[in-house]
Amino acid sequence: MNILTNAVYLVSAVLFVLGMKGLGHPRTAVRGNLLGAVAMFLAILVTVIGNKMIGPEWIIGGIAAGSLIGIITALRIQMTAMPQMVGLFNGFGGIASVLVATIAIIDAVQGYSIGRMVDGLRSVATGLDFDLQFLIATAASAFIGTVTFWGSLIAFGKLQGIVTEKAVRYPGDQGVKILVFIGALVLSVLVVLDPTNLAYYYGLLGITSVLGILLTVPIGGADMPIVIALLNSYSGIAAAATGFVLNNTILIIAGSLVGASGIILTQIMCKAMNRSLANVLFGGLGAAVAQVDLGDIYTGKIKSTSADEIAMILKSAQRVVFVPGYGMAVARAQTPVRQLTEAMEADGIEVEFGIHPVAGRMPGHMNVLLAEENISYDKLREMDQINPTFANTDVVIVIGANDVVNPLAREAEGSPISGMPILNVDQARTVVVIKRSLSPGFAGIDNPLFAMDNTLMFFADGKKAVDEIVTAYKDA
Ligand code: NDP
Repeated sequence: MNILTNAVYLVSAVLFVLGMKGLGHPRTAVRGNLLGAVAMFLAILVTVIGNKMIGPEWIIGGIAAGSLIGIITALRIQMTAMPQMVGLFNGFGGIASVLVATIAIIDAVQGYSIGRMVDGLRSVATGLDFDLQFLIATAASAFIGTVTFWGSLIAFGKLQGIVTEKAVRYPGDQGVKILVFIGALVLSVLVVLDPTNLAYYYGLLGITSVLGILLTVPIGGADMPIVIALLNSYSGIAAAATGFVLNNTILIIAGSLVGASGIILTQIMCKAMNRSLANVLFGGLGAAVAQVDLGDIYTGKIKSTSADEIAMILKSAQRVVFVPGYGMAVARAQTPVRQLTEAMEADGIEVEFGIHPVAGRMPGHMNVLLAEENISYDKLREMDQINPTFANTDVVIVIGANDVVNPLAREAEGSPISGMPILNVDQARTVVVIKRSLSPGFAGIDNPLFAMDNTLMFFADGKKAVDEIVTAYKDA
C-alpha cells in the first residue's frame, strides 16, 4: 500500500511540475491548470484511501465544504477583487498548516503523557522522546503559517479598504519588529526543547500573530502586489513544513513548489518595480512621503476630446498602441477594445498592446482580460519590448491606466511610485487617455501626463467611451 501511495504521489508531483510549466504561457495555461487539478485529485484520493487515522467521511466532508466555498466564491468574485481573494486564500493556506501542526503536537503530547504513565522509567522533563524532525517542522509550520494568516488578513483588509491602504509607520517600528521576531524564535526553540509544555506552543502562536500584523501593516501603496506574492510563497513554505510534520511526501513537494514559485514571482515583481525585497519589507513605500509639490498642474492645460475627434486621428494613424489598466477591468471595456482593434487592423493599421507588469490589481490581470477576448498573444508586448517603440507610435490609447504611465515615477524620490519603471507613453505623437475624471489611481497621486501637450483626455466610462469610438471610427 505504501509503495502504491508513494507511486501515486510521484505521478502527482510530476503532474504538478508539468502543470506549473503550462501556466507559464497563456496558450498552455488552461491545460496546465487542468494538470494541476488532476494531480491534486490523485493526491487527495490516495491519501483518503491510505489514511487510517480518521474516517474518510471527514476528509470527504472537508473536500465538499471547501469545494462549495470555492465554487461560490469563484462565481461571485468580481475580476477587480481578485487580489483580495488571492490574499485571503493565502491566509487560508497558512491557517490550515497551523491547525494541522496544532492537532499534531497536541496528539503527540497526549500520546507522550500516556506513554509516561505506562512506562514510569521514561524521562519526565525533556522532550527527547519526540522525533526532532517532527518538533522542528511543527514549530516552523506554526511560525510561518501564523505569520502568513495574519499578514494575509491585513493585506486583504488593505486591498478591500477595511484597513488603511497607506503604509503605517511609527518611530522605532523596525526595532519592535526585530524584538518580536527574536521573541518568536526563542519560543520556537523552547517548543522544540520542551514540547510537553504547550504554553510555549500557544505563546508561539500568539507572538507570530503579532509579527504577521507588524510585518504587513507598514507596507502599502504600489508595494501590495509584491506582498501578496510573498505571502503566497510563505503559505507554500508553511505547507511544506506541515508535510514534514505529517511525513507526507506530496505535501512537502506541493508546498515547496508553491514556496519557490511565489518567491520567483516576488522577485519578478520587485524587478519590474525597481525595488529590492528588503526595501519593500522595510522601506514603507506608500507611507506619508514628502510629496513633490505639484501645485495645480492641471488648470488650463487639460485638453478634452470626443469620440469623433479620436476616430479621425486614428484613421490617419499607421501604428496604434493600447495601454490598458485597472479602469479597463472595472469598466469591462475589453470587448469594444477588441472591436476597435479589428476595425483598425482591417484598415491596415498596426495595433499592439503595452502591458505593464503591475497594471490592474493582480499579476497578469490585463493578459487575462485580453485573452478572454481572444486577442492574439503576439500583440501583447511586455514593458521592455514596447517602450523603445513609443517614439515611432502615432497614437497611444491609455484606457483606465494611471500609475503605470505616470512620468513622476522617473523622479528618483518624492512620490510613492518614484523609481518604478513605467510605460513611456508620453513619447508617442498623440496620447489619448480614457478615464472618468482627473482622479488619481492606486498610488493616490496626480499625473502630469494628463497635462502634457500631446495628451488628449476623453472623460467617460471606459466601455462607453470605446463603444462610442468604435461607432465613430466605422462611420468616419
Ligand atoms: P491605477 O489604479 O493607477 O488607475 C486606474 C484608473 O482607472 C483610475 O485613475 C481611474 O480614474 C480609472 N478608472 C476607474 N474606473 C474606470 C472606469 N469605469 N472607466 C474608465 N476609467 C476608470 O491603475 P494602473 O493599472 O495604471 O496601475 C495599477 C496600480 O495598482 C499600481 O499602482 C500597482 O502597483 C497597483 N497594484 C497592482 C497590483 C497588481 O498585481 N497588478 C495589485 C495591487 C495593486 P477615474 O476614477 O478618473 O475613472
